[in-house]
Amino acid sequence: MTDEVVDLLVIGGGPAGLSAVRAYREEGGKGRVVVVSADPDAPYDRPPLSKDFLRGDSAEADLGLLESGELSRLEVTWARDRVTGVDVGARRADTRDGAGFTYRSCIFATGSNPADLPVPGGDDSSVLRLRTLEDSRRLKRAANGARTAAVIGSGFIGCEAAASLRRLGLDVVLITDESSPQAQRLGDEAGARITGWLRDAGIRLMVDAGVTAIEPAGPGVRVVLEGQDDVTADLVLTAVGVRPASDLAAAAGLDLHEGRIVVDSHMRTSAPGVLAAGDVAYAFNTAAGRALAVEHWFDAETMGKVAGKTAAGSPDAQWSDPPGFWSQIGDHWLKYAAWGDGYQEALFEDGGDGAFTVWYQDENGTCVGVLTHQADANYEKAFGLLS
Ligand SMILES: Cc1cc2nc3c(=O)[nH]c(=O)nc-3n(C[C@H](O)[C@H](O)[C@H](O)COP(=O)(O)OP(=O)(O)OC[C@H]3O[C@@H](n4cnc5c(N)ncnc54)[C@H](O)[C@@H]3O)c2cc1C
Repeated sequence: MTDEVVDLLVIGGGPAGLSAVRAYREEGGKGRVVVVSADPDAPYDRPPLSKDFLRGDSAEADLGLLESGELSRLEVTWARDRVTGVDVGARRADTRDGAGFTYRSCIFATGSNPADLPVPGGDDSSVLRLRTLEDSRRLKRAANGARTAAVIGSGFIGCEAAASLRRLGLDVVLITDESSPQAQRLGDEAGARITGWLRDAGIRLMVDAGVTAIEPAGPGVRVVLEGQDDVTADLVLTAVGVRPASDLAAAAGLDLHEGRIVVDSHMRTSAPGVLAAGDVAYAFNTAAGRALAVEHWFDAETMGKVAGKTAAGSPDAQWSDPPGFWSQIGDHWLKYAAWGDGYQEALFEDGGDGAFTVWYQDENGTCVGVLTHQADANYEKAFGLLS
């Protein structure tokens, strides 16, 4: 079959891929543009999958990311297919369904996948994970027939999902190897606040808990713990981090750093005409003065925008924003921005009525991050300090 000749081929239809095609057109990028997306659903907002969508406060119709008629207005073809190989020398790509593309520019926006818990049974199909809309539908269906849930992992997705499952009326246990949720990343005071929110919601916390196995237990699933009582639940969700989806890039011979595609501040990879953006990228941030690994929605969008503009020929588009995200645990919003390589001191500021700010400083007293709850002025201020 003859290859289709395209000006821009985008692999992946998450926020990075979608913002790349929007920015490409805004920047005056011409010609044929194709997005190949392995997700069978039309592009959707991922953050609600552990929050309002999971707990039933929003519907699938609220998740769509495309405006009506947007693809035809942008003259972008959306192919529900999977790219299986890229030859960066020949500037060609092949797909699972037998399509072939010859491209001028190609953007890898393949995102990441949930990591499996590395214990016996951790990759069993009965253990639920949360990344896609279909994962969230499956989790909702499982919750519908369940009385109890065990959530393993106290990162944001674990905390958010535990709060949402509790809201659906399940007895929820959150199992973590941390001393309190997020304490390693955000400090003890923030960990204590999150603990309070989860406990107030009626979630049981098991901290400093090492999972050694996950096994079937009649109709439920048993989580085997080291030195603590096992937990048996009707459903088990693991939320123990992500793995960048970089197999395709590795096979194509792109330079990788710890599984992420190395790109400069314009999102250019080691291969001519090939860019990368989003969770899969290890991108140079000009304000940080070094490359950063981030897994946040806004940053994926921003990197995608830079990649799209660069592909359209802009020499100026570069990534410089401080990375960060917003999270919602039950009714509690958190806003976080940080360079991501730790801190010397976490200064806790109680804003009254439950509001708080944590200022993260390095050894010179320079602000390297901020976490706020109901303290937007501090968030804005810190964002300015970081920029
Ligand atoms: C439940 C949940 C809640 C979250 N909440 C927040 C939040 O509150 N705030 C926040 O900042 N971040 C949040 N995130 C993280 C955020 O969603 C990600 O950082 C963001 O989606 C990354 O965007 P991306 O475009 O790089 O990748 P993705 O969104 O992962 O999209 C990548 C796409 O590429 C496709 N793909 C992969 N390989 C191929 C291939 N070979 N061919 C074709 N297509 C391919 C995949 O199917 C996928 O659709 C959350 C994530 C999850 C799962």
